[in-house]
Amino acid sequence: MMRPHREIQGRCPACRNATLFLGDGGHITCSWTDCPNPGAVGEILEAMQHIKEVEDFLRNLDAFRKLVSAMRTAAAAVGVSPPDSFGDTPYGP
Ligand SMILES: [Zn+2]
Repeated sequence: MMRPHREIQGRCPACRNATLFLGDGGHITCSWTDCPNPGAVGEILEAMQHIKEVEDFLRNLDAFRKLVSAMRTAAAAVGVSPPDSFGDTPYGP
């Protein structure tokens, strides 16, 4: 049985019309016939999720660098010198 589509508050970022609705599979879709990108809201939400993943990655990278720095300090305190490549990442200093 088909349920009627539910309208969603706000405007479509692609065509600026208040024509968003909850489409099949829970995807927010624009119903404007000439909309250049009816799935724009979904794409933006997906992009935001990727931004969050990158932020988490950078936060983890920063924590990793701090840990390496602390380990270098601890190693130096007991007269051990780790190899130069210790703690290197492919993302620069
Ligand atoms: Zn639209």
